[in-house]
Amino acid sequence: TARIIDGKALSKRLREGFKQRVGKLVEQGLQPGLAVILVGDNPASRVYVGNKVKACEECGVRSFHIALPDDAAEAEVLATIARLNADPAVHGILIQLPLPPHIDNRNVLEAISVHKDVDGFHLYNVGGLVVGNTIFPPCTPYGVQLLLDTTGTDVAGKNVVVVGASNIVGKPMALMLLQREATVTICHAKTRDLAQHTILADILIVAAGKPGLIVSQMVKQGAIVIDVGINRLPDGKIVGDVDFEGVKEKASWITPVPGGVGPMTVTMLIENTLRSAERALHVRGSDDYQDWEAPVLKG
Ligand code: NAD
Repeated sequence: TARIIDGKALSKRLREGFKQRVGKLVEQGLQPGLAVILVGDNPASRVYVGNKVKACEECGVRSFHIALPDDAAEAEVLATIARLNADPAVHGILIQLPLPPHIDNRNVLEAISVHKDVDGFHLYNVGGLVVGNTIFPPCTPYGVQLLLDTTGTDVAGKNVVVVGASNIVGKPMALMLLQREATVTICHAKTRDLAQHTILADILIVAAGKPGLIVSQMVKQGAIVIDVGINRLPDGKIVGDVDFEGVKEKASWITPVPGGVGPMTVTMLIENTLRSAERALHVRGSDDYQDWEAPVLKG
């Protein structure tokens, strides 16, 4: 049976390291800060924002929680972002998605300074991912990458199948693994005969939001299986997209839900925020882009 990839334990280890990095920044007079903007009161979003704020506090990162009403105008959201872009106490800005339908996602995401785009959703960071030099990799795929690393597997040349092609998980995940020279297949809702693809995967990453989508007959013996899905069943139980009990008998490694990818997403958000704060201080080695100036993308 498969070994468990423990996202909770890895998150805990990483967050211990974050505390030390925050300590060093504070010694130099810089308190790292993350601003989280929530528009409306989607209950799931409120939980996510709460988790992010809590994780910040735990690591010594100052958090700014900005709650706007459900009917806030797009201009008000943009003005809030402009204020945070200019605020030197803020190193990361995050807009909790989804936004109410009257607000254009792209307008809002593109308004965030690329220097503070810790979610990595600005087109500039998305483009950076395509050519292999992002400043801020998107948090969920970034967390998956670190989880994969803990298995000691070199992904180069491996067959990786990503199930799900969203802009926040599936597509960036595929690009990150392509950058590491995996042979990547992306499947999605229109894919015919999903099993025909998944059965070839040395590494199977599932982010579809469909409980029970992946059963053991679809998995290659010895595969590494990463389950990004988070689904709440009618009885309140949280499950992923993978039939854990069945698939764990075939996989070599598997992530549980909860306790796998979930905790890593928030952890990588803090990582990106610290990286941004370190860039602000020009801490050596914090990244390779210290002299890099963001271009003006929009008139
Ligand atoms: P999404 O709804 O934006 O995208 C889902 C993708 O899966 C789409 O590309 C769709 O075509 C594909 N898909 C749907 N049904 C399919 C099927 N039957 N076969 C193959 N592909 C199918 O979702 P998302 O935002 O990418 O999130 C995916 C899942 O991951 C959700 O369960 C979400 O809750 C979870 N999630 C978890 C984390 C985390 O931190 N662990 C972060 C983000 C999302």
